Amino acid sequence: MAEFNAERNGTGTKEWSETSVNIQKGCQNDCKYCYAAQMANRFGWRKREDWSREELTKEATRELFPARKGVVMFPTSHDITPFNLEASVGVLKRNLERGNRVLIVTKPRLECIQRLITELEPWKDQIMFRFTIGSLSDDTTKFWEPGAPLPSERLACLSLAFEAGFKTSMSAEPLLGGAETGIEVVEACRPYVTETIWLGKMNRVQVATEDAEAAKEMKWLQRDEEIIKLYNHFKTDSVVSWKDSIRAVVVKQSKRLVWTYAMPTTELMRLSDITRELCISKSTWYQGIKDGRFPKPVKLGGGKTSAWRTSEIRALIEAGQR
Ligand code: SF4
Repeated sequence: MAEFNAERNGTGTKEWSETSVNIQKGCQNDCKYCYAAQMANRFGWRKREDWSREELTKEATRELFPARKGVVMFPTSHDITPFNLEASVGVLKRNLERGNRVLIVTKPRLECIQRLITELEPWKDQIMFRFTIGSLSDDTTKFWEPGAPLPSERLACLSLAFEAGFKTSMSAEPLLGGAETGIEVVEACRPYVTETIWLGKMNRVQVATEDAEAAKEMKWLQRDEEIIKLYNHFKTDSVVSWKDSIRAVVVKQSKRLVWTYAMPTTELMRLSDITRELCISKSTWYQGIKDGRFPKPVKLGGGKTSAWRTSEIRALIEAGQR
């Protein structure tokens, strides 16, 4: 059975879970950057201006959910709100009763989290909460996520779940600002996070809002230099994980900055150094060796330990072979 923190090769929600469950169309949070809303509008089943209207689907009353080997994420294309709380509790219980591990991802409302904590207590070990907090600023949050709870309520939920003994994690994806915002959010959440803090950029900013000035400002705040600043601030912080959007910037920059980047000066590098420098998972690295894209290790200590030639890693970065 996959662990919550297993390294996955996918991007987006596939980086966090193997499957997902949703029970609703529309979402009252009405985030300006909402990908689900953009897709619904594009494929013609819900106009963008109607996205905040909540409507349960037949999944909400489904009696039997399969036992899954991997992590089930709930929800991915709406949020848990007072409108669907009753149905959400039922669906979560029916998944947990099957032995599933469930990652609950939400911009949390106190009313909802209080209820979930009480109702789901018997399955505590199978649950991880992941609360989305992209900024501590009320104004910024109200602009980008107009129907969602304010940061203070979300932080209160994080503290509540933590105090109740649940596994807690946090996601600032999308981050609603630049490096300074990221640092503030991480430090505010850190005391209540038992697992991981994820950081990710706002994707597709240009289509995320029709407000050209806001889009321009966000693109500026999340320009490559700013993302690298954020990355360098937390790069050795074991609590912080990077979404694919930030890893892509780091890799792009590392090709340019290879000689000034914090590469070791020793002749050999350990796997943990390589995965950190290249921002990739161990499984991706080993797959690359298998495919012949990445160099083979040098065996040390009678074959018990593996290391890689620093010169080969430098060459790899320069060639951009990731
Ligand atoms: S919470 Fe998620 S699903 Fe809901 S509007 Fe925001 S981005 Fe879309």
